[in-house]
Amino acid sequence: MDFKISEEQTAILDMTRRFARERIRPHVRQYDRDERFPLEIYAEMGPLGLTGGVIPEAYGGAGMDFVTYALMVMELAEVCQVMACAATWASGVGGLSVLNFGTEEQKQKYLAPLARGQGPVAFALTETHTGSDVASMRTRAVRDGDHYVLNGTKTWISAVAVARWIVTFATLDASAGRKGITAFLLEPEWAGITRTPFKNKVGFRPLESGELVLDNVRVPVANRLGEEGQGFKIAMSSVESGRLTVAARCVGMMRACLALASDYAKTRETFGQPIGQRQLVQSKITDMRVAYETARLLVLQAAWKKDNGERARADMSMAKMYASDALMRTAEDAMQIHGAYGCSDEYDIGRYWRDAKFMQTIEGSNEIHRGLIAEYELGYRQ
Ligand SMILES: Cc1cc2nc3c(=O)[nH]c(=O)nc-3n(C[C@H](O)[C@H](O)[C@H](O)COP(=O)(O)OP(=O)(O)OC[C@H]3O[C@@H](n4cnc5c(N)ncnc54)[C@H](O)[C@@H]3O)c2cc1C
Repeated sequence: MDFKISEEQTAILDMTRRFARERIRPHVRQYDRDERFPLEIYAEMGPLGLTGGVIPEAYGGAGMDFVTYALMVMELAEVCQVMACAATWASGVGGLSVLNFGTEEQKQKYLAPLARGQGPVAFALTETHTGSDVASMRTRAVRDGDHYVLNGTKTWISAVAVARWIVTFATLDASAGRKGITAFLLEPEWAGITRTPFKNKVGFRPLESGELVLDNVRVPVANRLGEEGQGFKIAMSSVESGRLTVAARCVGMMRACLALASDYAKTRETFGQPIGQRQLVQSKITDMRVAYETARLLVLQAAWKKDNGERARADMSMAKMYASDALMRTAEDAMQIHGAYGCSDEYDIGRYWRDAKFMQTIEGSNEIHRGLIAEYELGYRQ
């Protein structure tokens, strides 16, 4: 097995690292405090090819393989996982839903600009009463001539306040369960759409996640994504790649936590010695390093399988669950090494720790993935 990074990959990663360190790092603490998505920094990412990901060039993408894409996401997430998320909008749940199920017109109108960096997009699935149990959604769609009329409330929707378009889901027939769900592409300025970002969130502060209320929103039939009743399949097939990008973000964040903890351990002295020389601190550094390497390998293996046309559903679940749990432990250890200073927002580690927690929840909570992995293993699920 060849673990070597190619020359082409090196060039992409060097450029990404430079952009992250020079253009994102100086601003991240402030926009995190302000709970503001930095559209001006995002606007610079498209021209550099950082938003095109795995989307084919014909649809404005960068045509990357999944391994290169995952490595690029790690570089960005090391500095800011929210901007890494922005780099995945086209190749993640929003963009891939359109790539895989959209009409040619929908791909040109919505996906191509997104891949060129003219997003954001929001993917609105979760509802107030449930996130994991997608099939029990209450948002309703009713056909009315050449339109559908949508009513319902979605919540915790990332980038909802700044999105240029929205993928959402509604049921035409609640009694049909998952078979009743249909996907739609919305434009935020349409009548009946209200978007309210949540404030004072614990983590993911710049992502402007919040509520989307649909009050008699008239959606042209041309904006239905896929067929009637195909919504559940669209949502589930797209989250597979979404999981890969969440896992890659976790790995980048782990690298940052390890670097921050190591730097601090080498300079902070107690009882006349740097704390890095204490075995109890070294033990944490060792755990962090091993977890980082393990998570990185799981992510790259899952990406490699996708590149080689292999089925990777269980691998995606393993990568997402392991990387986010390992990140949480790593961020926790890194916080402990920082002592009281972990509590100060003059230090970056607290931001990684706050964001780490919700990596265990998004794109399928880790309890859901734990169940899925066992079901694949036992043959209960194919
Ligand atoms: C920062 C952030 C950004 C988000 N962005 C988006 C977005 O852009 N779009 C979107 O649609 N959603 C988004 N979400 C919502 C996210 O997808 C949901 O939070 C997630 O699906 C879990 O749903 P829930 O919070 O309703 O928890 P629930 O489904 O109510 O679960 C609550 C708890 O019970 C556990 N649980 C549930 N079912 C089972 C089971 N069968 N077995 C064992 N344990 C179970 C869960 O693991 C969890 O610990 C975001 C959430 C956050 C925090």
